Amino acid sequence: MVTIGVLGLQGAVREHVRAIQDNGAEAVVVKKATQLEGIDGLIFPGGESTTMRRLIDLYDFMEPMKEFIAQGKPVFGTCAGLILLAKKIVGYEEPHLGVMDVTVERNSFGRQRESFEVDLDIAHVGEGYNAVFIRAPHIVDAGENVEILAKHDGRIVLAREGQFLGCSFHPELTSDNRLTGYFIKMVEESKDKQMA
Ligand code: GLN
Repeated sequence: MVTIGVLGLQGAVREHVRAIQDNGAEAVVVKKATQLEGIDGLIFPGGESTTMRRLIDLYDFMEPMKEFIAQGKPVFGTCAGLILLAKKIVGYEEPHLGVMDVTVERNSFGRQRESFEVDLDIAHVGEGYNAVFIRAPHIVDAGENVEILAKHDGRIVLAREGQFLGCSFHPELTSDNRLTGYFIKMVEESKDKQMA
């Protein structure tokens, strides 16, 4: 059994906990950096990336998170969480964690489409995945080691690079738990490798 942490500083935390538990894994709301020691994988929820960044700095999460990542443990960034992971953010000089080899653009689906739902076909996960977008970013550019898992309107909305999974939408807001399940499988595989 793996234990998945959900960064609990801001945003849609409780819904991620439910989606993890529905997949039969253990969920922990991470509010202190010391809790990172007890988890096998971490989810960054959606919310507001600039606010989340401020809280990450305020609660001294930056270095412990970088150490967590350096151990090779999987991280899933959803919506604002994807922005936290990206190496580049359009219009900004500096990234936040800057670990996943993608360029993201914030709020990139236009004001008239602040939020919407679509059915996506997701590689390795399945078809007809109900995705909820809320002031969503998208991936403008992806490095050569990044696997593109889903697109909407020709835009990359889900991608994986090794231990990192990032999506534009909110996988925790519907009862379709397949994408959270895919991340949990990533965490199980990574844990098996570390124990081998
Ligand atoms: N627009 C938010 C940001 O830029 C992300 C929105 C979300 O997470 N639903 O951080």
